[in-house]
Amino acid sequence: MNERVIKKIESLKERRKAVILAHNYQAGEIQDLADFTGDSLGLSILAAQTDAQIIVFCGVRFMAETAAILCPDKKVLLPEKSAGCPMADMITAEQLIKLKQENPDALVVCYVNSTADVKAESDYCCTSANAVELVNSLPADKRIIFVPDQHLGRFVAERTGRDLILWPGYCTTHVRITEDDIRKAKAKYPDAVVLAHPECSEPVKELADELLSTGQMLKFAARSEAKRFIVATEIGIIHALKKQNPRAEFYPASERAVCPNMKKITLDKVVSSLEDMQYEITVPEQIRTRAKKSLDRMVEVLPTR
Ligand code: SF4
Repeated sequence: MNERVIKKIESLKERRKAVILAHNYQAGEIQDLADFTGDSLGLSILAAQTDAQIIVFCGVRFMAETAAILCPDKKVLLPEKSAGCPMADMITAEQLIKLKQENPDALVVCYVNSTADVKAESDYCCTSANAVELVNSLPADKRIIFVPDQHLGRFVAERTGRDLILWPGYCTTHVRITEDDIRKAKAKYPDAVVLAHPECSEPVKELADELLSTGQMLKFAARSEAKRFIVATEIGIIHALKKQNPRAEFYPASERAVCPNMKKITLDKVVSSLEDMQYEITVPEQIRTRAKKSLDRMVEVLPTR
C-alpha cells in the first residue's frame, strides 16, 4: 500500500517539479520520502537554494511561513491546513508590541518557532542551536525580550548570564517529558547518555548530560562513542538518529512526547497536496519583508550558521 502511494508521490513530485522537506519530528515514512530532512530554519535555507518552484513542507505552519518568507518566488504548500504550533500561537504580534512598549529600550529576540507577524515585530530571530551565541553577540548594556519559549529562554539566560525578559510560552509536547521519566529511563539504561532539547522543562534539563537542538543531537550521536542514548525531545527524531547511527541504541525519554500537529502530515495528505496544490502558505509582503529582516540579522551576526 505504502509503496504504491510513495510511487505516486514520486511521479507527482516530478510532474510538479516540487521538493519535499520534512522536519525531524515527522513520522518516519514522511522523513524517508523527503528530499531533505532537518530543522525548520535549515530546511527553509535549503528550500531557498533549490531550483524547485514548489515546496511541500512536511511540518507545521510557522515552518512553511518561514520558507515563504525566505523564498518569495516559490509556492509553499503545507499538506495539512490545521498543522499549527501551540507554542508559536502563545504570543500574538499585539502582545509583543505591548511588551515592547513596556520595555522601550529592549531588543527583541524571537525563537524561529513563532508566527511571521511576531518575527516582523522582532529585531533578531534565533534557533535553538544558535540562541546562546546570538544573545552573547548583542550589546551587554541592552535588555533583551525573548519570545515565545520560556524554557529555551531560561536556558539562554543561564548560559549567557543575561537577565532576559521572558514570555511564558512553552512547547506542549516537550513539557510532557517529566523528571520522573528521565529518572526511570536512567535506572533502566544506566550507561546511556541523556540528550535533552532546551524546550524541555528545567528539572528535565538538570538531569540531562547534553542540551542540544535536534540538528546538534544528530551530530553529537554521530561523533560519540557511547552505545546508548536516552532522547528527551519529540520522538520523531529517533527515526533519524537510528537511521544515521545503526550501531547505537536510542530510547525516547517518554513515549508521550509526540507532537500531534507534526503527526497530522500523512502520505495521503502529501499526495493531495501535490495533486491539488494545497494548502498554499503566503505571508503578506509588508510582514514578509520585516520578518525577513529579523532572519537576515541573525545570519549577519552568525554568518557561519
Ligand atoms: S514539537 Fe512543540 S514547538 Fe514543535 S511544533 Fe510541536 S508544539 Fe510546536
